[in-house]
Amino acid sequence: GEGLPRPHQTRVMVVANQKGGVGKTTTTVNLAASLALHGGRVLVIDLDPQGNASTALGIDHHAEVPSIYDVLVDSKPLAEVVQPVPDVEGLFCAPATIDLAGAEIELVSLVARESRLQRAIQAYEQPLDYILIDCPPSLGLLTVNAMVAGQEVLIPIQCEYYALEGLGQLLRNVDLVRGHLNPVLHVSTILLTMYDGRTRLASQVAEEVRTHFGEEVLRTSIPRSVRISEAPSYGQTVLTYDPGSSGALSYLEAAREIALRGVGVRYDATHAHIGA
Ligand code: ADP
Ligand code: MG
Repeated sequence: GEGLPRPHQTRVMVVANQKGGVGKTTTTVNLAASLALHGGRVLVIDLDPQGNASTALGIDHHAEVPSIYDVLVDSKPLAEVVQPVPDVEGLFCAPATIDLAGAEIELVSLVARESRLQRAIQAYEQPLDYILIDCPPSLGLLTVNAMVAGQEVLIPIQCEYYALEGLGQLLRNVDLVRGHLNPVLHVSTILLTMYDGRTRLASQVAEEVRTHFGEEVLRTSIPRSVRISEAPSYGQTVLTYDPGSSGALSYLEAAREIALRGVGVRYDATHAHIGA
């Protein structure tokens, strides 16, 4: 990879939005692959029982595979479930199996139910630059575990009608977790996804989001791209499926912007590989 500045400590980023279909999983896997291609060591934690991130990374996650469920519910060490992602050096995945659907309920009666993922991450000894956590489309205990474990929340917003709807609830949850369980948690990054520059709607939504959030919104947005949506069915990210595509370049650029922000370097979009 090109080599970007590495963070001074592991950045744990929670990819959350309780709306389904906004690009959480797509963003998690492609950003993670981009950060790894830029030279980082990156772990994806799949926290959605659907296991879409595991599938997209080509990681086996049938029912018997040791998974994040075992970590959360049975205190299995994270190191025992992490698998290397084929084809992308420096990229790893803690897969989700279907068991995880029950964890939301099973966690309720467990000790330290909100901080089980945080503990597992703290006990993980492999050096990492980034951990990206792909959340389910809900604000239940799985998402709370992610928010307790992370420092940063990354919210993908689909450039669609009602894009901002429901975000108030998400932001209130971030505030609650910060107030009670994790004082460092903050929304660091908003990423516009499925952006179609040809439509007025997309630019209106983008403007509305930038007005509402300001600095947190990445200059780079992710275009709507067939290559991005095709890649998961090959168990690949768009970075290996079609490295020259606009989708791949946009995720590489978003990763660069995130990495530079993390070390306080101003991002200069004039160096962008693609139009911002
Ligand atoms: P979520 O995890 O928030 O439910 P996904 O990442 O699974 O959302 O995305 C929802 C659907 O949209 C998927 O079919 C995915 O392939 C598709 N998709 C996501 N991002 C893009 C994009 N930039 N261009 C085209 N399709 C996309
Ligand atoms: Mg998803």
